[in-house]
Amino acid sequence: METVITRFAPSPTGYLHIGGARTALFNWLYARNRNGKFILRIENTDLQRSTKESTEAIFEGLTWLGIDWDEGPYFQTDRFDLYKEYAQKLFDAGRAYYCRCTPEELEAKRKISLERDGKVKYDGTCRGKELSPGDDTVLRFAADPSGNTPLNDKVKGGIIFNNEDIDDFIILRRDGTPTYNFAVVIDDVTMNVNTVIRGDDHVSNTPKQIQIYKALGAAVPAFAHAPMVLGKDKSRLSKRHGAMSVTAYREMGYLPEALINYLVRLGWSYGDQEFFTRGDLIEKFSLEHIGRSAGVFDPDKLLALNGEHIRSTPVSELAERLIPFLEKRGIHETPGPYLEKAVETLVQRSKTLEEMAESAVFYFSDTVAYDEKAAAKCLKPDAAEPVRVLIERLEDMEDFDEKSLEDAFKDVMEKTGLKLGKIAQPVRVALTGRTASPGIFEIVGILGKDKVIRRLSDALEFIESSS
Ligand code: GLU
Repeated sequence: METVITRFAPSPTGYLHIGGARTALFNWLYARNRNGKFILRIENTDLQRSTKESTEAIFEGLTWLGIDWDEGPYFQTDRFDLYKEYAQKLFDAGRAYYCRCTPEELEAKRKISLERDGKVKYDGTCRGKELSPGDDTVLRFAADPSGNTPLNDKVKGGIIFNNEDIDDFIILRRDGTPTYNFAVVIDDVTMNVNTVIRGDDHVSNTPKQIQIYKALGAAVPAFAHAPMVLGKDKSRLSKRHGAMSVTAYREMGYLPEALINYLVRLGWSYGDQEFFTRGDLIEKFSLEHIGRSAGVFDPDKLLALNGEHIRSTPVSELAERLIPFLEKRGIHETPGPYLEKAVETLVQRSKTLEEMAESAVFYFSDTVAYDEKAAAKCLKPDAAEPVRVLIERLEDMEDFDEKSLEDAFKDVMEKTGLKLGKIAQPVRVALTGRTASPGIFEIVGILGKDKVIRRLSDALEFIESSS
């Protein structure tokens, strides 16, 4: 069977956004599922809008998502000679001609054509004139004027385009640079791409591209046009609907596994299954299950799914991934049992690594910064006694295992006549600075005797000095 060859062909005019990443994923997954090849091609013929930073951001985003490419990156700007060669082929075969209509003339024609039948179509003034190339000429494709161009789309099904609607579009501009609809075909032909998966905003370009394939006598690839991703209000996805750049999700503490799971599910399904590992996706992905309706981007669902992926990631791995988020907070921690134990207590409570790092700070800082409200509520004069009694009791203890700690707290309850909550809350604030945290015994066990006693003593001092 023919090897599947797909490609992702972004224009580097901004960051790698959610929609683009989904297109990349579909192509990558399909290639991986079919043991095929995935090519990365940077479509930077728009010299004004393409930037190096954007190209870097695309590489960075793909790499973070774990989307690796087998060939490339190719840059269209390195391939101008090739486009010229193919343009010449079309010209020699009588399927391209030079046109000298000025922008003003074209604008006037556009208006007439729009008024006449609401369409914008070049009227073929220069077709048949057999003009030679010059400084003021563009090269146009001599489109097939009659009949129709069928597209058998893997997602949309069969679509028939009337050739009357396809005009003699420009393939080389005055400066010799190729237009998108031409360069994309030459690239896909010369790179042997046989499956094109992209957003359905390109459906209307497809008949033009198919005509070029045919004019060159090249095999037309399979096309799969996936519906666009929309915002919750069903409008085109934009910043209003949440962060749009892939790397913003990395900064916010999302796992790449969660983002790819979510993005793929935004347009593809496998029964009711929502949670997929990377391996699952590679194994199960198929073009047949790309849906026909637009996916709706819901940041809350993505967040919940990220929590699920956090819970299914081994603690040692999470610990390592957490390190940069701790660094941001001035905490320089190395991987090891202490960090892992801390992470273990936070897995169930964190939907992002950012959130986890924020809740983990108290494990690593020398002094505890009290949340103002938490201190006002829990570090009051009546908390002094239980804290003092607990310090005394803990000082005598050797082991900080759960059973011994339970006994210690029971003793404090007995001695002070207070309920566990009345003791645990001040202790929690003393140790973590907050009223919500992992279980007290867990925390005490991890922090260890010295830190716990120091923090309780600090809290006692705080209570006494503020009363
Ligand atoms: N450069 C085009 C884009 O970013 C690629 C379209 C295609 O895949 O053919 O939309």
